[in-house]
Amino acid sequence: MQNEVENFNVEAVNSGLKKKRPSLYAARKKIFPKRAYGSFRRLKWIIMAVTLSIYYLTPWLRWDRGSFAPDQAVLVDLANRRFYFFFIEIWPQEFYYVAGLLIMAGLGLFLITSVAGRVWCGYTCPQTVWVDLFLVVERFFEGDRNQRMALDKAPWTLSKIWKRVAKHSTWLVIAILTGGAWIFYFADAPTLLGQLVHFDAPSVAYSTIGILTATTYIFGGLMREQVCTYMCPWPRIQAAMLDENSLVVTYNDWRGEPRSRHQKKAIAQGLPVGDCVDCKACVAVCPMGIDIRQGQQLECITCALCIDACNGVMERVGRDRGLISYATLSDYNANMARAKDAEGHIVPSKVRDATGKLRDGFVHFRWREMVRLRTLIYLGIWLLIGLLMVASLATRDRLGAAVAHDRNPLYVRLSDGSIRNGYTLKISNMVTVPRDFSVSISGLTGATLELPGVVMRDDRSVVLRAEPDRVLTQRVLVIAPTEALAEPRHEFTFVISDVNGGERTTIDAVFEAPEDVAR
Ligand code: SF4
Ligand code: SF4
Repeated sequence: MQNEVENFNVEAVNSGLKKKRPSLYAARKKIFPKRAYGSFRRLKWIIMAVTLSIYYLTPWLRWDRGSFAPDQAVLVDLANRRFYFFFIEIWPQEFYYVAGLLIMAGLGLFLITSVAGRVWCGYTCPQTVWVDLFLVVERFFEGDRNQRMALDKAPWTLSKIWKRVAKHSTWLVIAILTGGAWIFYFADAPTLLGQLVHFDAPSVAYSTIGILTATTYIFGGLMREQVCTYMCPWPRIQAAMLDENSLVVTYNDWRGEPRSRHQKKAIAQGLPVGDCVDCKACVAVCPMGIDIRQGQQLECITCALCIDACNGVMERVGRDRGLISYATLSDYNANMARAKDAEGHIVPSKVRDATGKLRDGFVHFRWREMVRLRTLIYLGIWLLIGLLMVASLATRDRLGAAVAHDRNPLYVRLSDGSIRNGYTLKISNMVTVPRDFSVSISGLTGATLELPGVVMRDDRSVVLRAEPDRVLTQRVLVIAPTEALAEPRHEFTFVISDVNGGERTTIDAVFEAPEDVAR
């Protein structure tokens, strides 16, 4: 039956075997991944479509914040130092929310890795997604693995030149669109697009597009797996996060070995044979150029394409799927112990019955393996930070204030003997509508406020208008009669409140007077 299976003449470019492992300084060997078919490949197509759509389309989403704030749903407004994310607006002093999100992202990565290994790398990492996209283009113009290998070796004909030019041009267009999409997160996208088209956008926009175009083209088109293997620190870090219960892509050699390309002949000769027909389909589809049958390797990004390839082969030879599968080390060890004889050799008859079906008792993936102390701790901390952030966002102040005392002079003695101090008051109106704030002082008996051009009300407060989403800077003078000043330093409080009810805040300040004020 196995002659229905296509055999591939392929060697693992990045061999996991110590004696075959290439030197770090060896020239790169090209990898020509074959297209895979199966459920993991379909899942990867879906994730690719979703992640690319999010990246390219998000800057074009609109979100109505009224006439005083930008209507771009997600915007990093560097000029005005704001970050807009749909209904959330983050001011610079609230950057801890971004830090919280980064901590959550890190913890989420720890959680996912401890559950399912490098799935981030295999499914959602931008490097993986863009390499996948670039491979789609490559296959479109040059064909699948065999055609691409033949084209690579072929002399330079018009046909080869056309295919190469078309491929690289399309890669460049994707790279430019990728760089272009990035800058739309930092300015109003439709306006910036118009400026780019008319060549009157800021030079930093063109240089950013240029840099991101180059990195996308080089990383996604030319360097591909080398970025993951040599440049990314994550493969090294993730090893510390895996344990014997983490799911990793595993070649189940307890049922695959001894492998044989000529199983019928081997069986006729009375030789033991495992499920692996040594077709190397798993190696041919691997974008990292490794042979998973050599065991877990640093290069493996857990993309599961080898699972799809091998499942297809197993179906064709009438065996159970899952010769390569997501499996935990503890399950693998249990299965291996069950498949071996007393001398430690794998015995196929202990694995399969006479009909070729897997015997009962072998362990397969169970969802409850994901629930263990370590993952629960990660999940608990992740949820706790998330809930704290949501609660904090829901209850945060939208009014901020700060005051700075004049450094020189610290005080002025007026002609009537009273003492005057000067301050710079800053009121942050953190909503997108104008607001009137009353400013008063407490804790300084008999003191009055004096603001250039502002009338004091009967209750000794003044009203200031703060523009929407802006910081109001106001010079404030505080005048106190000497009889109220028993000490050269007096602590008092500025009270700022929204005149239409709602928010109120206070800021402590110090009133300075001459040393002889108490005499
Ligand atoms: S593991 Fe599966 S795909 Fe790989 S060589 Fe063996 S049978 Fe073929
Ligand atoms: S060995 Fe399998 S899971 Fe690992 S990178 Fe290659 S195809 Fe992906």
